[in-house]
Amino acid sequence: MDASGEYYIVIDSDKCDGCEDCAKKCPKSVLEAVKMMVDIEERCLISVKEEYRNKLRYVCAQCMPEKTKPPCVATCEKNAIEWIWKSSR
Ligand code: SF4
Ligand code: SF4
Repeated sequence: MDASGEYYIVIDSDKCDGCEDCAKKCPKSVLEAVKMMVDIEERCLISVKEEYRNKLRYVCAQCMPEKTKPPCVATCEKNAIEWIWKSSR
């Protein structure tokens, strides 16, 4: 989530298997696979790197996600990642 609360990368933990295809396509290396607990199971899921949290508006700007599907979303065959850009324009 961006500091403005208007920019989000949403991962569906039911669909994501941590394959990192999206991370490999990201020109800014924003994403990484991490182990985390989902319900009572440890899973490998994609996540936004700590240093990029609250900065998505800036680091993802080159993908212009309000106009087209960004590479991270377009590459995921499982439809597990979504980019939400709540532009006020
Ligand atoms: S969001 Fe999709 S491409 Fe990215 S790690 Fe998860 S399953 Fe793979
Ligand atoms: S929108 Fe672009 S810069 Fe942002 S995570 Fe996706 S591929 Fe990377």
